[in-house]
Amino acid sequence: MVHPRVLRAMSTPLLGHLDPEFLTIMNQVQTLLRAVFETQNPFTIAVSGTGSAGMEAALVNLIEPGDQVIVGVNGVFGTRMADIVGRAGGRSVKVEAPWGQIIDLPRLEGALKQAGAVKAVALVHAETSTGAHQPLEDAGALCRRHGALLIVDAVTSLGGVPVQVDAWGIDACYSGTQKCLSCPPGLAPLTLSPRALETLKARKTKVQSWYLDMSMIADYWTEGKRAYHHTAPISMVYALREALRLVVEEGLEARFARHRRHSAALMAGLATLGCEPQAQAGHRLPTLNCVHVPSGVDEAGVRKSLLAEFGIEIGGGLGPLAGQVWRIGLMGESSRHEHVVTLLSALEQIFRRHGWAKQTGHALAAAHQSYATSA
Ligand SMILES: *Cc1c(COP(=O)(O)O)cnc(C)c1O
Repeated sequence: MVHPRVLRAMSTPLLGHLDPEFLTIMNQVQTLLRAVFETQNPFTIAVSGTGSAGMEAALVNLIEPGDQVIVGVNGVFGTRMADIVGRAGGRSVKVEAPWGQIIDLPRLEGALKQAGAVKAVALVHAETSTGAHQPLEDAGALCRRHGALLIVDAVTSLGGVPVQVDAWGIDACYSGTQKCLSCPPGLAPLTLSPRALETLKARKTKVQSWYLDMSMIADYWTEGKRAYHHTAPISMVYALREALRLVVEEGLEARFARHRRHSAALMAGLATLGCEPQAQAGHRLPTLNCVHVPSGVDEAGVRKSLLAEFGIEIGGGLGPLAGQVWRIGLMGESSRHEHVVTLLSALEQIFRRHGWAKQTGHALAAAHQSYATSA
């Protein structure tokens, strides 16, 4: 869901990409992004393109042919990172975990010790394909001890759960606009630490991608330089500024608490329908709620009914989880009480109709109970 203020911002008349008025808006976007990423990094920008452009930008700018990169692979997006590392000429060393589990820090440490020189460690903070919430508090220090950069995918976490770039020692962190920032798809927030910038500056080879070469794009985002590289997607920058203002107005802590509250209520309701969480206990995202479809239930049929009869879209499983799980986003503007109760009541009706549940009301009661006991 996108807030009406964001939609309205997108219909504002266009400015040129070098218009002083637009440059002011870019500066504001940078300031707001630093607040949301919890970083002081001067290099904090919005990359033109969706979240995957952010992923590609983070990887291709820091990796040179021959570099070893340790990639945590426990879902679709870790797999994608490893693919990009290879395309950039790097060698990915995968630290794998079953889908839904997190990547254990001791296993990462073992891989770092064994691999020899490692350029970077790449981890997905919020694995959207499984609902796993990767802990990162100690990952930066571990990487530093081994002289490796820490690259983090925060596409489904930024604006929904804490992402503390500076406190956690993250060197490159990217996100996307359409997940917890509740903005249309089209930009990828990206922040690079001074250490990452030094690595970029010290490259022996040119960045393999011209479009995503951050050494050139930095000059467009730097006050006093403002060198044209490619035309900025003007309306999207308006939208992102407004979406970030909404995040900051709500306050990060309040926003994270809201995500936790609605996720807890949804999961309590789903449990009464026999939907067990896919992600490891203690490491479940409130932004992406991934549950097993109870046996005997028509997975795709339920999603079809939800969309056709109730106007609710939930996700199916990706890759090896196709047909086995539902992925329910409660991100940004979508993390709301009415969405939780409407979905649970719709599911109860569908389950009852097909005889998968004997009666209705339990899921809603469990959600209400959760709301009553959460702060
Ligand atoms: C959605 C997503 C991406 C890719 O973003 P696009 O906007 O689809 O390009 C990358 N990583 C994660 C964890 C995501 O959820």
